[in-house]
Amino acid sequence: MIAAVDGTHDATLQSWLESANDPATDFPIQNLPFGRFRRADDRDACIGVAIGDQVLDLRRARLIETHDMNRLMGQRPEERVSLRQALRDGLRAGSPNEALFREALVPQSRVTMGLPCEIGDYTDFYIGIHHATTVGQLLRPDNPLLPNYRWVPIGYHGRASSINVSPSRFKRPRGQQRGADEPQPSFVPTRRLDYELELGLLIGRPSVQGEPISMAEAEDHLFGVTLFNDWSARDIQAWEYQPLGPFQSKNFASTLSPWIVTMEALAPFRQAFARPAGDPQPLPYLDSPANRERGAIDIALEVWLQTPTMRAAGHPGDRLSHSNFTDGYWTAAQLVAHHTANGCNLGSGDLFGTGTLSGPGTGQGGSLLELSRGGKAPLYLSNGETRTFLEDGDSVELRGQCTREGFRRISFGPCRGTVLAASPS
Ligand code: MN
Repeated sequence: MIAAVDGTHDATLQSWLESANDPATDFPIQNLPFGRFRRADDRDACIGVAIGDQVLDLRRARLIETHDMNRLMGQRPEERVSLRQALRDGLRAGSPNEALFREALVPQSRVTMGLPCEIGDYTDFYIGIHHATTVGQLLRPDNPLLPNYRWVPIGYHGRASSINVSPSRFKRPRGQQRGADEPQPSFVPTRRLDYELELGLLIGRPSVQGEPISMAEAEDHLFGVTLFNDWSARDIQAWEYQPLGPFQSKNFASTLSPWIVTMEALAPFRQAFARPAGDPQPLPYLDSPANRERGAIDIALEVWLQTPTMRAAGHPGDRLSHSNFTDGYWTAAQLVAHHTANGCNLGSGDLFGTGTLSGPGTGQGGSLLELSRGGKAPLYLSNGETRTFLEDGDSVELRGQCTREGFRRISFGPCRGTVLAASPS
């Protein structure tokens, strides 16, 4: 079942916590995203919910007994809904639990966020049809989109060990690469380091091997959504990707935002899902009436770049592009149904990357590979600098938010990562 709009989404709801009522906050009472945090003196990570500029410690507020986020994520949908209602009831203005909940608050500025859960398996999909088409044009000008694309949600199994939480820093990777005019490959730091604007979908309820999840049940297994940057080394990728797909061009680092915006919080932002005229309809195992009516989610996405020169000058950075989850070719439910259609089982905390979410317009590419047309067209930044790919010291920030007339704006909080110089060889 797709989560329904209920009283927890009421735009007139106010909290006794003033910062949650600030129109500019990412985390009003209608959002309530989950994450894991530590105070300076905490030994173990605690489970918290972001509210205004604070974190609510769910154990101290006596809402849960576990420290185990993956276990919490494995709850049945009705348990998730009742926890959300209890959070709303305790945080709303006039709540009789205000004193208890106040004791359980910590300023976000005084905690360190960890990964929001233990990430089990990680699969990266490729649902951005505009990304797939543009990248395909660079590789195969006559045949940009392969014939399977409109039938099967393309994906590959990625590596969970190198996923870090925002704000993250990672070293420029080294790898094998071979230029078109070079007789043999070399092993050097990547010269074509890129980001990918993606969403991360986190699995809640696990499934059983041999038992596919149907479209009707798919959303019961989804806990929520984060921002996800799938850093990519394009020169390593070009040399290694045939015949089995990406490997070392992707698995050196990925960055996840710390707060999981739940499927329940996203309920007001659901949209109809339809195929463009002339495209094939999804096969029956990837189709359902609910998916057609409300399968898509309107999440507006942005990529920002801050160079070291900008940082030194106090310049906040440039927005490089914007797109939307609805620009993707498949819905979240279709990815769950497809992933399990052969009997593959999912665990609590498994992560699906959506693939790069590029918009249809020029300048809407979700990666530098697209924006610089394979490195041929430099981007001119507002301070006079140029970029084709990322340079050492560059910081990339993904942002996401949901807005709809009659509802409170909710947002994901930033997903930020900074490139460090490669280690000396
Ligand atoms: Mn990717």
